Amino acid sequence: MPRTLIHNARLFESDHARFVPDCTVVIEGERIVEVARERREARAEDGATVIDAKGLALLPGLIDAHVHVVAASHDLVGQTTWPVSLVGAEASRIMREMLERGFTTVRDAGGADAGLQEAQQRGLYAGPRLFVSGFPISQTGGHADMRPRGARGPGFFCACAGLGLVGTIADGVGEVRRAVREQVRTGANQIKIMAGGGIASPSDPLEGTQFSIDELRAAVEEAEAANLYALAHAYSPRAVTRAVEAGVRSIEHGNLIDAATARVMKREGAFLVPTLSTYAALADEGERLGWSRAMLDKLEQVKGRGLEAVQIARAEGVPVVFGTDLLGHMHGRQSGEFTIRRQVQPPLEVLQGATWTAAQLMRQEAHLGRIAAGAFADLLLVAGDLERDLAPLARPEEGVRLVMQGGRVVADRRSAGQA
Ligand SMILES: [Zn+2]
Repeated sequence: MPRTLIHNARLFESDHARFVPDCTVVIEGERIVEVARERREARAEDGATVIDAKGLALLPGLIDAHVHVVAASHDLVGQTTWPVSLVGAEASRIMREMLERGFTTVRDAGGADAGLQEAQQRGLYAGPRLFVSGFPISQTGGHADMRPRGARGPGFFCACAGLGLVGTIADGVGEVRRAVREQVRTGANQIKIMAGGGIASPSDPLEGTQFSIDELRAAVEEAEAANLYALAHAYSPRAVTRAVEAGVRSIEHGNLIDAATARVMKREGAFLVPTLSTYAALADEGERLGWSRAMLDKLEQVKGRGLEAVQIARAEGVPVVFGTDLLGHMHGRQSGEFTIRRQVQPPLEVLQGATWTAAQLMRQEAHLGRIAAGAFADLLLVAGDLERDLAPLARPEEGVRLVMQGGRVVADRRSAGQA
């Protein structure tokens, strides 16, 4: 089995959010087999590949807990007329670029299917480990119901469209159960439900709630029956509270939460996954991309509250995870989330949210998000002083010098400009 030894490493202990100097990490095959908090010189007879991490930070591979790798276009409705093969090919490009930025794992919050996951696992293309939700589940007129007001019947806009961000529509407890079971059958790793209004959908107010309490509970119950969990799109205090009390594990976005709502999240053990870079991107580009006045108004409403929501969640002890939620060409802003989060979170806390806390949310802490014996050897070497500044992660083409996934080096920029 190929053996790699990384020495002189300033290692990020993600579970404690601190750096430890002069560590040695031993990798065999795709897993880490030993982490020694001491200097160790590699001996030639070890037959191991040696990587000298001197002057660089060694991090667990990054995890983005809210992406849509099939969102090849910002025009989600227009994209439903694309051949699915084209969407798949675009998704593979989007995933490769994520991996090159240092994201060795992503949780897809709707759209990606088990086929994309298997293609990555088979090595058909380079990309992050992919945790898929299948189709997001929405009530009629909910956030994943993209039909314009004039549309009648399912038309292009049902889940039968293939591969995209359009949801599957379910009304009533029975249909919700069937929709969840269908995502489970087709290989979902977690279940995405739309529990409140959204920006990209034409007909649902942001402050509204979606699904009845019974429907929310049914979705969670069916997810848990399959040993999965549910994540919910929600902005308003009312929508977040209902979802969390129904047993949802993570709230996606959550921009409008107040302290009382954050306390409910804390009490119920829920995670918050803010996605601030997508609001920044859409504020810059939404008008040019032809978004309607109604959508831009909704955007303005949530954008102004995004940072405050992170502060409120932190103050109440809610774990905050790294997410982005970008669409189309705006995927290029993924690493910009680090810069935005820095306005309200200490650097090492942001880093923890993109590693350890994300792995906890996904119940993958034995395998991902931490540099420890038994975990996958998903590792980054990063330049700069991350305790002070996350700019090297925000500009990965300069700061992220090496990306390793499953013990294999998948991007190596060490020769370019290493000091
Ligand atoms: Zn999303």
